[in-house]
Amino acid sequence: MRTTLIAGNWKMNKSVSETVLLISELAPLVRDDIARGVEVAVCPPFIALATARDVLSNSGLKLGAQNVNPEAKGAFTGEIAPGMLSGLTEYVIVGHSERRQIFGESDAFVNKKALAVLAAGMAPILCVGETLAENEAGQTEAVLTRQVAAGLSGIAPNDLSRVVIAYEPIWAIGTGRAATAADAQNRCAFIRAEIRKLAGAAADTMRIQYGGSVTPANAREILSKPDIDGALVGGASLKAADFAAIVAAA
Ligand code: PEP
Repeated sequence: MRTTLIAGNWKMNKSVSETVLLISELAPLVRDDIARGVEVAVCPPFIALATARDVLSNSGLKLGAQNVNPEAKGAFTGEIAPGMLSGLTEYVIVGHSERRQIFGESDAFVNKKALAVLAAGMAPILCVGETLAENEAGQTEAVLTRQVAAGLSGIAPNDLSRVVIAYEPIWAIGTGRAATAADAQNRCAFIRAEIRKLAGAAADTMRIQYGGSVTPANAREILSKPDIDGALVGGASLKAADFAAIVAAA
């Protein structure tokens, strides 16, 4: 039985005071859903994580970071190490398409991050997904095969159940054009089959989220699919009522 995880990726939005406000609004709205077993996480900017940790205490909400540097410490100006996050966040998003595309992060670097997050006692949310051009060229499965294999490389079998995969077709992110629920299900089932080839039965314990323009209007259908174990939500996670409506649909 896989617990549904709805995670909000706030990206470069919300100051510290706005973080306090949003979590304070959100917590009462999702209390009953957390009580019935839905896992709900928010991923504010680094600067707000410590405050967020205090504000969400006793709410049942989980906390995630949006990125990490895999090195333990050193001369990496502006970066944040896994050990700085452990004890603060439960989750760390790695390999988001914005990091891959804007900041040039490779499959190998994303894998190093996933390994470092696990070693520091947190769970990576490993994002994979194809571009529009790759989709239109019929390369989606090849891209997913490569990103999943590279992303999970070297992860100990015992650790795999802690890894969350987020299938995020890049053409659906922030565009208002979500994948259809049927397509999202097919891709997530494909990813699970790839994991099964790599790691056998661990595939059944790993959670696979869908992300890309999830809204209160489309969440219920997407989240009803058997291989979709939650959602990674960008824009709609910035409004408490919208995010809570997505959680309620889970
Ligand atoms: C994301 O950035 O992970 C995302 C899914 O964004 P949005 O929901 O805005 O498409």
